[in-house]
Amino acid sequence: MKSSDYLISTVKEAPNDAKIISHQLMIRAGLISKLASGLYSYLPIGLKIIQKVEKIIREEMNKSMALELLMPVAQPAELWQESKRWEEYGPELLRFQDRHERDFCMGPTHEEVITNIAKQYIRSYKQLPINFYQIQTKFRDEIRPRFGVMRSREFIMKDAYSFHMDEESLGETYQVMHQTYCNIFDRLGLDYRPVLADSGAIGGDSSHEFHVLAESGEDAICFSDSSDYAANIERAETLPQGDPDAPAEELKIVKTPNVKTINDVCSLLNVKPESSIKTLVVVGEEDNLVALVLRGDHELNEVKASKIEGIKQPLQMADEDEVVKQLGCNFGSIGVVNLDIPIFVDYAAACLSDFVCGANENDKHYTGVNWERDVKQIISCDLRNIVAGDPSPDGQGFIEIKRGIEVGHIFQLGTKYSDSMSANVIGEDGRAVNMNMGCYGIGVTRIIAASIEQNHDDRGIIFPKAIAPFELVIVPINYNKSSRVRELADQLYNDCQQNNIDVLLDDRKERPGIMFADSELLGIPHRFVISDTHADNGKIEYKSRAQSEKDEIDFNDAVSFIIEKLS
Ligand code: ATP
Ligand code: MG
Repeated sequence: MKSSDYLISTVKEAPNDAKIISHQLMIRAGLISKLASGLYSYLPIGLKIIQKVEKIIREEMNKSMALELLMPVAQPAELWQESKRWEEYGPELLRFQDRHERDFCMGPTHEEVITNIAKQYIRSYKQLPINFYQIQTKFRDEIRPRFGVMRSREFIMKDAYSFHMDEESLGETYQVMHQTYCNIFDRLGLDYRPVLADSGAIGGDSSHEFHVLAESGEDAICFSDSSDYAANIERAETLPQGDPDAPAEELKIVKTPNVKTINDVCSLLNVKPESSIKTLVVVGEEDNLVALVLRGDHELNEVKASKIEGIKQPLQMADEDEVVKQLGCNFGSIGVVNLDIPIFVDYAAACLSDFVCGANENDKHYTGVNWERDVKQIISCDLRNIVAGDPSPDGQGFIEIKRGIEVGHIFQLGTKYSDSMSANVIGEDGRAVNMNMGCYGIGVTRIIAASIEQNHDDRGIIFPKAIAPFELVIVPINYNKSSRVRELADQLYNDCQQNNIDVLLDDRKERPGIMFADSELLGIPHRFVISDTHADNGKIEYKSRAQSEKDEIDFNDAVSFIIEKLS
C-alpha cells in the first residue's frame, strides 16, 4: 500500500473524553472515529487491524472444529420471551418495533437465536456434539459507555455456542475452547490470564474469564503468590479463619454523636477498622429485613450475598425508613447486640473479639462486643471481597490483586436455554433429552484496545507483529524530488510486496519528521528510511519500533533482512 492511495488519518490531539491511553492512541492514530456515545466507526487502518485479529480467531476456531455461521443482529421478541430474558435483561437490551409494531431487539448476545437454530436442525444424538460460532456486531445499551471501544455500545464479538448430549461432552468441548482461547491470545501477543469466574447457578469450575493484565482494567483479579490459582474478585472464595479469642472486655455503650461512617466511628473511639464491624441490612425473600455483617475494613461481595438462601434476588439494600421503623435507628448505628433479624456474618468478622458495633440507637455504639456472650444466633459465611494478603482459597500461598481487562469468557450453560426453549434431541435409547450447552465469547474490538494498553510508549502504539496494521513502513526522504530515492524506494516496495510483506510506502509530500512520527504513532513494527546520503553508500537505515537504536544495512540485503525479522 502507498500512503497516497490510502487514508493516514492521524490527529494531534485526543479528545477530552479519552481518559485511558488506548482510547487516546486509537483516536490519534486514526483507527476509530466517534459517531455518538459508545458508537465508533473503524477507519481503514482500524478495520485492517480488526481483520488481522479476526483471522487469528477464525483459524483457531476452525482448528477446534467449530463451524462458522452468521445470525441476524435484529432478533424478534418472541424468542426472548420464550427464554424469559425479555423481562430479565433490563435496559442494556435495546428494543424497537418494526413497521407492523412487532417487538424486536438488537442482539447483545445470541443464545436464543442459536438455540432456535439447533432446535430446527439438530434432531439426533448422532449430530452431537456440535459447536457454532460467528464474528459479528453486538449492541448493548451500556449504562456508562467509556474508554472508546473498550466499553462501547456497538462492538464486534466472536461468539460460539456448543450443544451436547450430556455434561461430560460439554466438559470436553469446554476444555477444547479453553485451550483454543489460550492459543488465540498467545498468537495475539497478549499478556493474559485465564481466571475462574462466577458461574451463576451452575456452580463448580464451569466459567473462566480471560483477562489482559493492565492498570486501566475495570476488573480486579486475584492470584495466589505460590500456585496457579487465579479468580475474578466476584468469584474468589474466602476461607473460615478459626474461632474468636475469649472476651477480655466488658460490653460498654458509648456516645458517638454525628459520626456517619465506620471510619469516623473508629477514629473517634481510637480503634482500627479491623477491630470493628459494619452491619448492612438487605431485603429478605419475604420482604423481611436481613443483616449482613462485615469487618469494618472489608467490602460486601454482592454476588456472594445474593446467593444466600432467604435473601431476595437481585440483592436489594433495605429502605432506611423501614430500618428506622423496625430497628429503631438509622443505617449508621445498626449493630448486632439484641438484633432480632437473621444475621449472616462474614468469616473474618466472625472471628473478632472485643469489637465495636452500632447500638441500634442513633449516635451510640457498643465497645467490647463478643459473639457468643453478647449476640444471639448468627450464621457465619463467605460474604466479602477477597483482599491482598488473604490466604489463597486453594490453600497455597497468599493473594495478590491486579487489574484486568476481560477479553474473553467461556461458560457452561447446562440446559438453561434448551429447557426454556424446548431444544431436545432423540438419544440413543429413542427418548428425547434437552441438550447441554456451552457459550464462548471474545471481544474482538476490545482486544485491540487491550493490546494497546499493554504495548505503547510516549510516541504511540507498539503493535505486536500479529496485529500491526502494516509489518513494515518505508520512509523515503524527498521521494517527490529525488529520482534516485524514488527508484530505490519503489524497487524495495515492489520486492517486499512480491515476498508477501505487508508494507506501507509513505510517499506523501510530508516533512520526514511527520512521517516518522506517524509511523511510530501507528506502531508499525519495522521501518526502513531511504535517503540520498544512504544511497551514496549503498545503504539503508533500519529501525525497530520497539527499540531506540538505528542500524545501517546494505540496500541489497534489505528484503532478506526484513524476512528474517518477520519470521
Ligand atoms: P463486561 O463485564 O466487561 O461487561 P460481559 O461479562 O458483559 O463483559 P460477555 O457477555 O461475556 O461480557 O461478552 C463476551 C466478551 O465481549 C467480553 O469478554 C468482552 O471482551 C466483550 N464485551 C462485552 N461487553 C463489551 C462492550 N460493551 N464493549 C466492548 N466489548 C465488550
Ligand atoms: Mg457487560
